[in-house]
Amino acid sequence: MEIKIAGHVFTPQRVFCVGRNYAAHARELQNDIPDEPVIFCKPATALVFPEHKTIPFPGFGKNLHYETELVVLIGREGQPDNETDAVNYIAGLTTGFDLTMRDVQDKLREQGLPWEKSKAFDFSAPVGKFHKFDRNTDLNNITFSGSVNGVVRQRGNTGNMLFSIPRLLTELGKYWKLLPGDVLFTGTPEGVDALHSGDEIEAVAPCGNAFSWKID
Ligand code: MG
Repeated sequence: MEIKIAGHVFTPQRVFCVGRNYAAHARELQNDIPDEPVIFCKPATALVFPEHKTIPFPGFGKNLHYETELVVLIGREGQPDNETDAVNYIAGLTTGFDLTMRDVQDKLREQGLPWEKSKAFDFSAPVGKFHKFDRNTDLNNITFSGSVNGVVRQRGNTGNMLFSIPRLLTELGKYWKLLPGDVLFTGTPEGVDALHSGDEIEAVAPCGNAFSWKID
């Protein structure tokens, strides 16, 4: 499992994810607005790259949701000193889906249990091809979108994040030394909904390239 970008090869070992990073999405799931980032992890084996065209509908749960998210590839080892320094850790960007078995997650949340069964299962993290991060990019005005069966269902702009990408990287660095190849899902805007067998999901990356998978 390798990510190639601008002549560099990264082997992801960890996938970090942010929950409730857009106020409108937190509200649509009746969650409180967090005062610090909500972080959870998926195993790197949950990643699905564009070459793999199908995602099996999981053999548990019923209500599989798409969450379209901007995804950051980390290219450097260390702990950002501050938000300005954090920008130096970004190697690439793309769009992906934080696939979530919502009925299972609701049950786990009710019981106060960890979310992994509902969020970190095999094939739960399809990502597009990463494009090299351009240092001149305005990190607070990046757009991305997700479609189901050719209809755009979510449009995101990083300007609506509760916690910016540099803030997220700085926060992550407090708990984990960042490693090249780490992948960060930065949270979903509003508009999440259910998927069914036969649906085709498409992620449009900030560079404009689109990547699709069929739910099998
Ligand atoms: Mg998410």
